Amino acid sequence: MTPLYRPEDDPRNVRGMSDGKAKAPELLTIGEFSRATQLSAKALRLYDELGLLCPARVDEWTGYRYYSPGQLEQARLVAWLRRLGMPLAKIKAIAGLRPAEVAAEVAAYLRVSTAEFAERERLAQFLIQYLSRGETAMPASASTAQAPLAIRYYAASDAGRVRPANQDRGYAGPSLLAVADGCGAVGDAASAAAIDALRPLESAALPDGVPADLLNLLSDAAAAAAASVRSLVASDAAAADSGSTLTAMYWTGSQLAMVHIGDGRAYLLRDGGLFQLTNDHSVVQSLIDAGKLTPEEAASHPQRSLLLKALGGDPNSPEATTPDLSLHEARAGDRYLLCSDGLTTVVPVAAIRETLSEAGSSPEDVVTRLIALANEAGGPDNVTCAVADITATG
Ligand code: MG
Repeated sequence: MTPLYRPEDDPRNVRGMSDGKAKAPELLTIGEFSRATQLSAKALRLYDELGLLCPARVDEWTGYRYYSPGQLEQARLVAWLRRLGMPLAKIKAIAGLRPAEVAAEVAAYLRVSTAEFAERERLAQFLIQYLSRGETAMPASASTAQAPLAIRYYAASDAGRVRPANQDRGYAGPSLLAVADGCGAVGDAASAAAIDALRPLESAALPDGVPADLLNLLSDAAAAAAASVRSLVASDAAAADSGSTLTAMYWTGSQLAMVHIGDGRAYLLRDGGLFQLTNDHSVVQSLIDAGKLTPEEAASHPQRSLLLKALGGDPNSPEATTPDLSLHEARAGDRYLLCSDGLTTVVPVAAIRETLSEAGSSPEDVVTRLIALANEAGGPDNVTCAVADITATG
């Protein structure tokens, strides 16, 4: 039979106390406290030194630390927050808050961490693309990729049949293709500002064969576009809900950099196949990704125009304002389409593919036909298309 526990019989309560006095029976040794909280003794000593979790008592002769049972809950909270990866300084700042306030801080930390992870993932994907590009080049394209490439391009925008104004903007030039879709009270100025911020790229001097520089230039221009749209949004209280999407491609030789934020799309027609190069940053796309909605249901979803990301969003919320960046290898024969959601919400992908595939069609023919298709389908939104054909010279 196990005898009842009597603190006065516990050797821990007298051992190690060189002043001969027993410690208060309710206190836990650092070992007991460590086991109960899953925090190592080393971590507990560090937290004591940082003032994050101080022992209830430290023996003045031996330096042994003792903790009260009342500290267990706080220590477990510290352990959980450390497992989340929260920095010690942040934990110290929030550890004394009420549980609901700590919960709000944890939610905010999770949002930032998720956005940072997504950003790291994008950077890693870019590095993988960049570092393996020599080995992954398709044999069939090796000769054409080295041949000088030329680009034919065209862009147009139409208000559609319902909207009183056109808040879309499109641009096509020798090395830049861009589409922006503004929304809110200053949506018109926002999309124009986004495109204007990219125009200087046309005259930027690019060192040959350095794709990372191409991407950096486009990334800097996109940051300038974001700052420009943000200042427009901040300048007018009625414009708080305004912003703009931006999908743009920037070429030098066969290297193609792309930036994308919002629900515009980029497509590539290559060897007869149509490939979507962008993911929609929209609420419905996130529901589709989570398996909560089918693409068919999304087409008529009441929140299908709600964006998760756009230029002009809260600058303190990187998950809502960080665009996707990617690098691609252009080939002779490629046809690229950038478009606003005014096309893709009413014109099926099969019809887009058929139009892009029409033999002998020029970029202008294709853009004109796609805008006509959107209007034939009711033209409920502004619609903008930009098309570029890559051809071999000589
Ligand atoms: Mg639109």
